Amino acid sequence: MSPKRMITVDGNEAVASVAHRMNEVIAIYPITPSSPMGELSDARSASGEKNVWGHVPKVIEMQSEAGAAGTVHGALQSGAMTTTFTSSQGLLLMIPNLYKIAGELLPFCMHVAARTIATHALSIFGDHSDVMACRQTGMAMLSSATVQEAHDFACIAQSATYHARVPFMHFMDGFRTSHEVSKIEYLPDDVLKTMVPEELIQAHRERGLSPDNPVLRGSSQNPDTFFQMQEARNIYHDAVPGFVEDSFDAFAELTGRRYELFEYHGAKDAERVVIIMGSGGETVRETVDVLNSGDEKVGVLQVRLYRPFAWERFVEALPTSVKSVAVLDRTKETGALGEPMYLDVVAALNRAGRSIKVIGGRYGLSSKDFTASMAKAVFDELAKEMPKPAFTIGIVDDVSGLSLDWDECGNCYEPGTMHRAMFFGLGSDGTVGANKNAIKIIADNTDNHVQGYFVYDSKKAGAVTISHLRFSTDPIRSTYLIHEAEFLACHQFHFLDSLDVVSHASQGGTFLLNAPYGKDEVWDNLPRSVQQTIIDKELKFYVINARKIADDAGMGKRINTVMMVCFFALSDFLDHDASIGHIKEAIEKSYGSKGRKVVEMNHAVVDQTLQHMEQVDVPGAATSTFDVSPIVSPAAPDFVQNVTAKMLAGKGDLLPVSAFPVDGTWPTNTAQWEKRNLASEIPAWIEELCIQCNKCALVCPHAAIRVKAYDESELDAAPDTFKSMKYKGREFGDTAKYSVQVAPEDCTGCKLCVMVCPGKDKQNPDRLSLEMKPQLPLKEQERENFAFFDAIPEADRTLLRSNVKMSQFAEPLFEFSGACSGCGETPYIKLLTQLYGDRAVIANATGCSSIYGGNLPTTPYSCNADGRGPAWANSLFEDNAEFGLGLRLGLDKHHSVAMDLLSALRDRIGDDVLVDELLNADQSDEAGVLAQRSRVDRLREKLAGVDGDGVGRLHSIADHLVKKTLWILGGDGWAYDIGYGG
Ligand code: SF4
Ligand code: SF4
Repeated sequence: MSPKRMITVDGNEAVASVAHRMNEVIAIYPITPSSPMGELSDARSASGEKNVWGHVPKVIEMQSEAGAAGTVHGALQSGAMTTTFTSSQGLLLMIPNLYKIAGELLPFCMHVAARTIATHALSIFGDHSDVMACRQTGMAMLSSATVQEAHDFACIAQSATYHARVPFMHFMDGFRTSHEVSKIEYLPDDVLKTMVPEELIQAHRERGLSPDNPVLRGSSQNPDTFFQMQEARNIYHDAVPGFVEDSFDAFAELTGRRYELFEYHGAKDAERVVIIMGSGGETVRETVDVLNSGDEKVGVLQVRLYRPFAWERFVEALPTSVKSVAVLDRTKETGALGEPMYLDVVAALNRAGRSIKVIGGRYGLSSKDFTASMAKAVFDELAKEMPKPAFTIGIVDDVSGLSLDWDECGNCYEPGTMHRAMFFGLGSDGTVGANKNAIKIIADNTDNHVQGYFVYDSKKAGAVTISHLRFSTDPIRSTYLIHEAEFLACHQFHFLDSLDVVSHASQGGTFLLNAPYGKDEVWDNLPRSVQQTIIDKELKFYVINARKIADDAGMGKRINTVMMVCFFALSDFLDHDASIGHIKEAIEKSYGSKGRKVVEMNHAVVDQTLQHMEQVDVPGAATSTFDVSPIVSPAAPDFVQNVTAKMLAGKGDLLPVSAFPVDGTWPTNTAQWEKRNLASEIPAWIEELCIQCNKCALVCPHAAIRVKAYDESELDAAPDTFKSMKYKGREFGDTAKYSVQVAPEDCTGCKLCVMVCPGKDKQNPDRLSLEMKPQLPLKEQERENFAFFDAIPEADRTLLRSNVKMSQFAEPLFEFSGACSGCGETPYIKLLTQLYGDRAVIANATGCSSIYGGNLPTTPYSCNADGRGPAWANSLFEDNAEFGLGLRLGLDKHHSVAMDLLSALRDRIGDDVLVDELLNADQSDEAGVLAQRSRVDRLREKLAGVDGDGVGRLHSIADHLVKKTLWILGGDGWAYDIGYGG
């Protein structure tokens, strides 16, 4: 066999590496977090990489997961070795074909990065709700808990399926495993080839449909035969565990790594055992070792083969001393007596006649962190005389009272050899890429095991990414976030004002800050509480102006290389020269394709960085006269103060169940309270050059620059620095004033407004009416100016005309979204809300527009002073047209019922003129809509004095007498209107 080789990859790459080399046809459709498996396979085939049999697999991207599954089914029926990858709703779309594939005993192994299924909300994060929805299909299900296992099980499942003829679903935990970077032992081609004997491939091929040997499959059967044939396959499914064990044995022979169907770890005489599947098992294992090193006797049983559930093997694996077990399921089956694996365990123990107390709990839904302290709480519950039979762990459930309490103890279950590093970066500053390189450098050049996990905010711009890196000479089993790190880096200075960054440093740790200040100025620019934590934790504090170094080198905001050099200098994994050499090699690999100039710029930065890094002399006392600002303004509504603000502060995990709406309904109009301060430069208005075209407001993707024309009396209380000029048109009266105003903390600095601005200085055409200036010195003044501007009354909409200039005097009802800086979609959505927002219902597909439109914590769709604004909902990726049609039909029905009731109640309303006007209103323009609204108000007054059949109903739907527009918004921002009345 080939010599041992280590690679550093994430779970997706670990699986794709095997799947591509062991198949002939790969049908793909992207869905987070499984997309990289398809993308990597596609890239491999595109570059001519061959499978272990010497052929380039055919990779085909389909129109949906349903299409991918159909393609897989067909390819399998032709006798080709076939695979696919998916997650969540994508997997659900495959279910009908999975039944068929299993029913036809077609061997294949698909790979799933298990992800939450959308219920009250979409979530791209991980749990087992998707795979659990497939447990009845007849697919065998094999669960991997680590990146190494994901690599190994991709091969083992492929081997077992060809032996058993039963198709396999191999799954790993979405994000926690699929996106965790780890150092693993690579499976060479000869191992893969040996694991699937040629004669089994041949047998599969020979069963393929061929006119040379014609048969018929997929028949239609009747009551006389269907049932028997369902049972005829039992022997194949019964044989699966044996084949998986054989594959485990063969694999162990080839690699030295041995797995079991149910893997027990812990005290041989354990009385309490946790049963779990997936990455959480590693955490429980870590907990068990620590507890057993004291005076406890506990264990963990990790489930590998979930379907078929080999109950005899399960019972054999459980020590005879066990008195109670807790089954942890990473899914929720509402209304069931227990979650799926709990019920399997109860049935298995019952069948074996074992009298053991069994309790069941839910954990880790949507990648909720599952820590060793939580595992300890489960063992503690098991030790109670009367444990909760059903519980949750990881949340505070103050409604149903199901949750267990736990004491979070930070790093206390991790081995003493562990080194931890945390990096707070921006999505666009290259932090994650640099950290992946750092992990690879340390993995490749030291004996350390490594773990890299990256927590992404799903905002498009200004997303905070927190990198969690662990290094240890012992195996790393901590499949949860780092609480306190020996090395802490903050890559953006302004994070200190909104995130509790320094609390994540361990006592005596190192804190590296990218700041626009040197070592002598930085202290006075830190909030007082940050200073106090640095003192209390006795941190070694270093500062570097990475943005300046990157800027000077022509790399703009890409500060990643600077920060990576500092990390290596402040950690002692490698000596200085070695680390510099490896960093430069990593730069060649990462940026080589972008050209020599980019590589050389980065190399120059590597050489210059350390002379600019300075250690700060930490004073003995906090001296700042300012502290961290409140996350949201005290003027924000209660919900924003109590819920949104905690989520913005990164403390959403602490919110109890009672804090949330029960049905996923969320208030709009909350993005205004999130001040992201992303822009280092913002546009400043030079009024004497402005031609009042309003193009700046039109193109701004974030509604961060606005225009108003207003009566001059509004300026009486204007701040000193507020700018205005005489309005050049007549629409708003002869003395109207005009202002262009930026929201300084909501601008992303994209410069689109400057690029489009035609207002020029005739003497110096480079001088425009908008000019980018540093945000920091302008922030306070422009914040005050924007607040003043915002309070100026909006224009009378009936005066506005349908052209670019006039449209921008209409209030945007979509503002400050988390779309990418410079987004080309959001200006259109903003315009749509300016024109029709007060009467719009939006059916949004899943994609960019649903993320910047409805991704919590904050919501960019907003309201006007009357409380009207777009109502927004997202159904599924694939059905927003149908969803929108349903909304349209509902709205139209309400309208027609209201019209019918109006006619029927004419006499009781007692105002024929009003009724006729309501029935025959022309709502084709703004004035018509506003007039109808005021008629509806009058109707309501009349109805208040009337009773009888239908009056209450008309009252409740009278608003539907006013035109509503239904917009169908594509995932990538396209929109169309399903018109009023049809
Ligand atoms: Fe809007 Fe970009 Fe101009 Fe800022 S720089 S105001 S985000 S267009
Ligand atoms: Fe004035 Fe320039 Fe804005 Fe036009 S784009 S309104 S000229 S600042």
